[in-house]
Amino acid sequence: MTVDGRGLLIVISGPSGAGKGTICKSFMDRNKNVELSVSATTRNPRNGEVEGINYHFMSKKQFKEKIKANDFLEYAEVYDNYYGTPKSNVEEILESGKDVILEIDIQGALKVKENTEEGVFIFILPPSMEELKQRIISRGSETQESLMKRFNSAYKEINYISKYNYAVVNDKVETAVEKLEAIISAEKCRVDRIKDSILYSKEGMTNEQLYD
Ligand code: 5GP
Repeated sequence: MTVDGRGLLIVISGPSGAGKGTICKSFMDRNKNVELSVSATTRNPRNGEVEGINYHFMSKKQFKEKIKANDFLEYAEVYDNYYGTPKSNVEEILESGKDVILEIDIQGALKVKENTEEGVFIFILPPSMEELKQRIISRGSETQESLMKRFNSAYKEINYISKYNYAVVNDKVETAVEKLEAIISAEKCRVDRIKDSILYSKEGMTNEQLYD
């Protein structure tokens, strides 16, 4: 929670295979006052994925209706499927004083950046491109074509790092999570976030107040 009682909007993105999901999961296990926003997607569930936990799975028709109804804080087409962040859910979490993490792709992160002033934008980098390739392959859940798409777009996406506030290299999950925690602590102390909540008097104190 920030000093004004509103939660912090934390946007985490980076190329597929950088380990965003693992870092977010570990971060969530260690920090209780934070919720992960559950995105909507038109892609099929992978083995073990659960509706409402990993994603809200829906058809393209349903997704397009939600776009029309202005239900998304952002949405993007990623690898031939739509992904979007439900707006009302994020707002509810922030209002309740909890922090919220959006684990989203780079196009989505840039849209959030355009539409809000409150986000903290964190880019997760793989230790090397070779390691990234191995991670994407080892997931084993993709077709050859989809693997190539993900790998090629990872190369292009890394160029967008300059649009972010922070970068964290995911060489070791624990260290990456510690860095994430440090970033979030520092963000909550930023003067431009807390200045309206700090008690101060422009006039200073009278003698009576000092000895009261
Ligand atoms: P995956 O299919 O591997 O779960 O996700 C593919 C990509 O879509 C990842 O980079 C993931 O971060 C991104 N993604 C997941 N949810 C959202 C969302 O709500 N909006 C956007 N823009 N990207 C998302």
